[in-house]
Amino acid sequence: MFFDYAKIFLKSGDGGSGSVSFRREKYVPRGGPDGGDGGRGGHIIFKVTGGMTTLSDFRYQHHFKAQNGQAGGGANRTGKDGQDLYIPIPKGTVIRDAASHQILADLTEEGTEYLILQGGRGGRGNARFASATRQTPQIAEKGEPGRELWVELELKLIADVGLVGYPNVGKSTLISRISAAKPKIADYPFTTLIPNLGVVEHKGRSFVAVDIPGLIAGAHQGVGLGLQFLRHVERTRILVHLVDVSGLTGRDPYQDYLQINKELEAYSRSLADKPQIVALNKIDLPAANGLIKEFQSRVSKVKIITVSAATGEGIPDLLDAVIEMLDRYPQQFTPSEMSEFIPPRDDFTIKITRDKGAYVVQNIALERRIQRFNLNNDDSLRSFQRLIKRWKVEEALIEAGVQEGDTVRIAGFEFIYSRED
Ligand code: GDP
Ligand code: MG
Repeated sequence: MFFDYAKIFLKSGDGGSGSVSFRREKYVPRGGPDGGDGGRGGHIIFKVTGGMTTLSDFRYQHHFKAQNGQAGGGANRTGKDGQDLYIPIPKGTVIRDAASHQILADLTEEGTEYLILQGGRGGRGNARFASATRQTPQIAEKGEPGRELWVELELKLIADVGLVGYPNVGKSTLISRISAAKPKIADYPFTTLIPNLGVVEHKGRSFVAVDIPGLIAGAHQGVGLGLQFLRHVERTRILVHLVDVSGLTGRDPYQDYLQINKELEAYSRSLADKPQIVALNKIDLPAANGLIKEFQSRVSKVKIITVSAATGEGIPDLLDAVIEMLDRYPQQFTPSEMSEFIPPRDDFTIKITRDKGAYVVQNIALERRIQRFNLNNDDSLRSFQRLIKRWKVEEALIEAGVQEGDTVRIAGFEFIYSRED
């Protein structure tokens, strides 16, 4: 199996709680507040990392949690921040919100970092709450909880040149002959089923070629293996279309050529429109000469190179032609493939649901804030009430039909509703 899809769960670290503490000094009966702030929770960050060509790292690990921040301490000690969690992903990974399938990021550059979930802020210690009228503040904030998100990862390999053609025309042979470096492909028993990326160096230039498993008739309909792999050639700049002219296949090379083009067209217009170089392969075999002539007489508008992937004959000409064509078709992504960084946003609409007579107020961002309050003291309670007012929670409750004396639940706290007027 080739892993080009994964669904994973992410959670950034919780912020550490602020501390309630007072200075203790000799001869000073009651020192000022010195409770430090909690540390920030660790972020979750995707990092595009070289050398990765599959999402197989996500085969068994589906949960990723960054470290929590530590609690603040006395003597104004700030808690340590939680460590950020870097998740390595291959170039060409598209990240989607699993619930909405919306694209959050499309990471095409090696080294790019994408901060997807911020760690929770640390709570403030009581030292921050001191004021002229409040010299011994008993309050400190709890840390803000980390954020959670399910995401889908989808790999769309990024190569300059895609090799297409029937099975056994010599694509793998060609790429192993022309590429200087081969990617490490982990223990897969069927390596021919994995798109094979190779870096090709030629006359001081380099480009990346991808050899995908054989396209066969009906590939675009998901018959055989073609379909799931065609997306990997979607992002190439040009195609090298290999055709077998050994005469050993029992097929007509020209019909092969038309058939593969039909598959590309059925998959997408943009694939069919990619510039092609046709490489007639296996010219070391005796029947090739006649078949080459016949092919050339029927196909005239396309650049045709004759090669032998086995002996190397014609390969320098093919690489010259590839470089020349790459220069004419620079990398470009359509807007939908451009990196769009849409960080998951806080949603400010409040939802009220009913649970056995109680009114439950729901909004992740609001709940996250409320969870930081310690409602057992007046200062916190006042801040809480201001927050509720700002968020127009009462309006939402009234609209939902709340009555004097009803139970209201929010972020794990329960209240009895009473209208103040
Ligand atoms: P793919 O399915 O397109 O990747 O084809 P492979 O690279 O696996 O090649 C299929 C068969 O054709 C293998 O047995 C190769 O050794 C053979 N082959 C590939 N290129 C040549 C060539 O230029 N000449 C000859 N005689 N055989 C070749
Ligand atoms: Mg192959």
